[in-house]
Amino acid sequence: MATSSPLIQPTKSRAVGNDLRALLGSGKVKDDGPTLTAYAVDASIYRIPPQAVVLVESEDDIAATIGYARSRGIPLTPRAAGTNLTGSAIGSGIILDVSHLNRILEVNQEKKWVRVQPGIVLAELNKQLSSQGLMFGPDPSSGDMCKLGGMVANNSSGPHTLRYGSVKDNVQSLRLCLTSSSWIEARAYPLTDPTLERLLTMVPALRDVLVLTQAHADLIAAKRPTVSKNSCGYNLFGVADGLAQGVFDLPKLFVGSEGTLGIMSEATLRLVNRPTSTLTALLHFKNLEEVGHAVPQILTLQPSALEVMDANTLNLIGRATHGIPTDAAATLLLELDAASVEIDLQEQADALRTICRPYKLASEPTVAFDAERREQLWKARKALYPTLYRFDPKKKPINFVDDVVVPAEHISELIRYLEDFFGGQHVPVAIFGHIGNGNAHIVPLLDVNDRGDFEKMVQAYQDVHSTVLNRFGGSICGEHGDGRVRAEFVQRMFGDELYGLFVQVKKSFDPGNILNPGIKLSDASFTDHIDYTRLSKSCATCAKCNSVCPVYDVFQSEDMSARGWFEIVTANDYSYLNSKRVVEACLNCKSCRTICPAGVDVSDLILQKRAEHPNRLAGLIFRQQAKGINFDAFLHVLASTQRMWDRPFVRKLLERITGPIMKALAPTARLPHDLVLPKLARRHLRERYAHVATREIEESPTRTVAYFHGCAANYFDDGVGDAVIEVLKKHGVEPALPPQRCSGTPIQTYGHVDLVRDGARFNLRSFAPYETIVTGCASCTLMLKDYPTLFPEGEERQKAESLAKKVVHISEFVARSSEHPPMANTGGTTKRVTYHSSCHLRAAGVTKEPRQVLSSLPGVNFVEMQDADRCAGGAGTYVVKDYDTSKKIFDRKARAINQSGANVVATSCPACMIQLKNGLDNAVEVKHVAQLLQEAYRAAEGEKS
Ligand SMILES: Cc1cc2nc3c(=O)[nH]c(=O)nc-3n(C[C@H](O)[C@H](O)[C@H](O)COP(=O)(O)OP(=O)(O)OC[C@H]3O[C@@H](n4cnc5c(N)ncnc54)[C@H](O)[C@@H]3O)c2cc1C
Ligand code: SF4
Ligand code: SF4
Repeated sequence: MATSSPLIQPTKSRAVGNDLRALLGSGKVKDDGPTLTAYAVDASIYRIPPQAVVLVESEDDIAATIGYARSRGIPLTPRAAGTNLTGSAIGSGIILDVSHLNRILEVNQEKKWVRVQPGIVLAELNKQLSSQGLMFGPDPSSGDMCKLGGMVANNSSGPHTLRYGSVKDNVQSLRLCLTSSSWIEARAYPLTDPTLERLLTMVPALRDVLVLTQAHADLIAAKRPTVSKNSCGYNLFGVADGLAQGVFDLPKLFVGSEGTLGIMSEATLRLVNRPTSTLTALLHFKNLEEVGHAVPQILTLQPSALEVMDANTLNLIGRATHGIPTDAAATLLLELDAASVEIDLQEQADALRTICRPYKLASEPTVAFDAERREQLWKARKALYPTLYRFDPKKKPINFVDDVVVPAEHISELIRYLEDFFGGQHVPVAIFGHIGNGNAHIVPLLDVNDRGDFEKMVQAYQDVHSTVLNRFGGSICGEHGDGRVRAEFVQRMFGDELYGLFVQVKKSFDPGNILNPGIKLSDASFTDHIDYTRLSKSCATCAKCNSVCPVYDVFQSEDMSARGWFEIVTANDYSYLNSKRVVEACLNCKSCRTICPAGVDVSDLILQKRAEHPNRLAGLIFRQQAKGINFDAFLHVLASTQRMWDRPFVRKLLERITGPIMKALAPTARLPHDLVLPKLARRHLRERYAHVATREIEESPTRTVAYFHGCAANYFDDGVGDAVIEVLKKHGVEPALPPQRCSGTPIQTYGHVDLVRDGARFNLRSFAPYETIVTGCASCTLMLKDYPTLFPEGEERQKAESLAKKVVHISEFVARSSEHPPMANTGGTTKRVTYHSSCHLRAAGVTKEPRQVLSSLPGVNFVEMQDADRCAGGAGTYVVKDYDTSKKIFDRKARAINQSGANVVATSCPACMIQLKNGLDNAVEVKHVAQLLQEAYRAAEGEKS
């Protein structure tokens, strides 16, 4: 059956989009070039540009889109986060993105179930359930970004499947729209249930499946995979099991059907209790065969997860980086949960050590109980696949034999076979996965643009899959789905007869082959639609960056996301004019760069594109600022008149008057009348500290520590600069304030790279003689540390590298200081303080120190807030560039601050303070870490006197 045949194609390129806009409203339909580019990929090796994208907002939208696709014979592909590794969320027709349907509809704590929409991210769901001590058990490593719709459609699972099963074991019911546009509730119906009969009459396809499964029960039983996990083909095995027990178990049919039978709008999921305590352990084995012997013994401890990484994988991710001994032949990562207290786990840890004693381990078992350390142990494993992208500029990890399952006791034998096979091909390969389930992820590194490597890929596809079936009696797919990549092999896995039943099932539900054609059942080669261009690029399209991108958080649309932007700005047909809308939407928060396991900096790529079209107005302003005197004088005038012009009615007028000028910054830019502007300083910081603020660059200054105050602390009356200086003094240091120019961050965001370099050269000269450069601003900290990137080579590069090493944020300075000035509680009462972790400081690697400082303050009850690491949406001037989006980004931060119950929110950045003060409206006090320190030192002084 040629299930991948293209259907009737529209004649006009935008006809589909226009029809859909007329049907659904223009806001929900996109078909511009950048959008189609962004939606042409998922996390697989394929690329297929669609004709239009629909961001559905209701069940009516789903039904209407299906109806339209059916009537026109246009392929329709449902999509959630697009993290599948098989090409199942891309298609040539309409992409139906369910990301806007992302609510939790109902939770039943007592009966432990939750009803959700398909667009909710797994991590988000579990975060919200955590307060009730519950979670959804299946945990793909992509849990920070993947969404429930995709998880259900793929029957996903993860390391903890050993304890909690796959998605199919945890679904109670689904609400689905079929190609007829009718809705069904897919639950387990007793065969005697009268509603079932009505349903079968209403939906003949369901009766077809019932009859077909009953009639072929023997064939289905004979072909049932004998391994612990299988996501290959349609799950008629589960349906047959149900029928044997007198129920028609519909979730078994639809879970894992990869959007080929119906589109889900709701899922009711079974929940489990969160473990009260957990132990994570790392075991480095010197001998692979011994792993095979140890695993059955370790399984007697009933671990909730048991993962393996082979020697090649350890080499590829870098043993030194992850502290893995050089002689480790394989590493096991395991987790043990306790329902009660930690002492049980101590006993378990002892039992584990006893089990390991007879084996040759390359080092003592590493055992961790606290969340942070455990997370650290998991980090490399969870980001393994994209991390492999760092290995070689040409050879990339290619997912085409990535998900085989064999009986767990044969996994060492499988690994040995794979190492020999790929060794024979001279192909580096990473082998890792869920050893407890016998599920191995095999990721060879290949340059598919090289003919030789391409042929090796095709050979490996056939050999590995055949060996898994014939020698090991396994399955070609445990959890990732068949998609495009395995569809070709499904018939080989199950034989013609059972495959014929699968085809009948598909035809019954989708006679026009509208829903996700080419997925699961296809005679097309797995090499069709490979994205050769992308596979020579640096991005793994894993979407991890989307999970932290504040713009994606608000828009939930791939064209407004870090991953999408990578695709857009690196596309061969990229043009600034066509892509301006998206290229100018990035906040330059750097969250994507901080998190990307492949080492990609999307924000930098975007800045490079902006640099090709620098903003004129911004250039004019920054040039004036660099000149100094006039700019400072202008700010003095503004400061002395602020009382007059910062009144509500004048601000309204100002918003109007400045409107046309602001438009020169961006079409969305304005000076919102309700934006709480920072108070401008009547005397700038440099004037207030004139005795240490030198006018000329000093070649041999007497002081060794310099304070890079940046623009905000100089021009605003926010108390930050004074606090930093006072704190330094308490630590026995009177800093110099050498002449300085803007560090460059805001200038860079408007595309003026030359101006940034000029400023950097000035700052390099001015700060070169100092041993330590203290900052109080997150963005300045990062920019100064990033100066080497502005100078590709030579003396300037060396100077920049030398300066970068000397930069410390004030919280780092205090945390590392040997001085411990006395501190006391301010005001006598205990303050509940939480911390907003500024994006640029995180990107600069400073995360622990501000928290350490805050926790050490007397009278401070430090509480970690959820989403502390998420952007607050200020991003320098972004707040005026796109105020509405900025506010939407802040909503999430405001919720987190409120939930924390804090009366003070501390941060490390004057720019974030503006956004926090504006958004929180005095409800919670906003302080810089240095200000809280200053208060504690002053309070101790006060007590003394
Ligand atoms: C780094 C990385 C690690 C991964 N680790 C794991 C792992 O440990 N375990 C694992 O199982 N997978 C893993 N995956 C694969 C992938 O993340 C999972 O399959 C995930 O559940 C897909 O979810 P998604 O939201 O991205 O779905 P998408 O990729 O958007 O879609 C997946 C499928 O679901 C269909 N679909 C989406 N929404 C609907 C709907 N509403 N109705 C009907 N069909 C729908 C799509 O058409 C498609 O067929 C990993 C991927 C990456 C990149
Ligand atoms: S930029 Fe990095 S995090 Fe984002 S999709 Fe690419 S590899 Fe993944
Ligand atoms: S810098 Fe921030 S806004 Fe821009 S792409 Fe990265 S995460 Fe998104």
